[in-house]
Amino acid sequence: MTTQGVLNSTTGTLYVVATPIGNLDDISARALKVLRDVALIAAEDTRHSMRLMQHFGIPTPLAACHEHNERDEGSRFLARLQAGDDVALISDAGTPLISDPGYHLVRQVRAAGIKVVPVPGPCALIAALSAAGLPSDRFIFEGFLPAKAVGRRARLEAVKEEPRTLIFYEAPHRILECLEDMELVFGGERVALLARELTKTFETLNGLPLAELRAWVASDSNQQRGECVVLVAGWQAPEGDDAVSADTLRVLDLLLKEMPLKRAAAVAAEITGVRKNLLYQVALERQ
Ligand code: SAM
Repeated sequence: MTTQGVLNSTTGTLYVVATPIGNLDDISARALKVLRDVALIAAEDTRHSMRLMQHFGIPTPLAACHEHNERDEGSRFLARLQAGDDVALISDAGTPLISDPGYHLVRQVRAAGIKVVPVPGPCALIAALSAAGLPSDRFIFEGFLPAKAVGRRARLEAVKEEPRTLIFYEAPHRILECLEDMELVFGGERVALLARELTKTFETLNGLPLAELRAWVASDSNQQRGECVVLVAGWQAPEGDDAVSADTLRVLDLLLKEMPLKRAAAVAAEITGVRKNLLYQVALERQ
């Protein structure tokens, strides 16, 4: 990756600009200034973004940069940047590249030694996390789950024991089946939060155990409309000896007689496949 030190100062800059996810007042003063000042705006959907530009009285020309032309058309934006023009990249809503086009363009532009500057702002997953009341120090963003049940369940299985808060985007017509599969895989007790229509008139945030959240969404078709983010509390290891099988405890006990506790937990983890940290805790309790 190119570093700032070798950037060519005669070329333009690519600004990656976040735009509102609903409430137009969320656009930043800096975003408006950049969108006004650049020579060209690369937009996911020019007709959609034209309305935003008209709202703010921004006359800057727009050119399409969507997932189907991003790789091929990248050279066109690159040529403008190389000629010294500044370009802004926007998507239909929120932060470009976050479940939106832009990755290939940014990569291409950086590889060419051209400066890329983020202009941060709205992002649905961050907005949802900031108000969810779920642990926010560490989290993972899974984007959209596969549309078909088999793929979706496989993906959920893969993150079933993920201790960090999980964040998913979901389409409204799939929200109910998504919550059903989450309940199936994570269990009905696991706390989750549905953040719907963020920053808009019908904004709703509701956090409940998955079984209750799924039942609430099933019983109210309004909850199956609009844009949504689903957050799920990370997996918590069951506490104490109950969390590991009798066989694992036997292995751990034998090893504890032969070696120091930390080593015994590590070797037992290798033999049994149970997490080392969990076995370490169990070993502490058993000594
Ligand atoms: N780039 C966007 C961002 O920064 O959040 C995400 C674009 S992605 C194509 C669209 C998805 O983001 C929606 O299906 C929904 O899951 C989520 N999303 C976008 N706006 C939202 C809103 N106002 N409320 C809840 N979720 C939203």
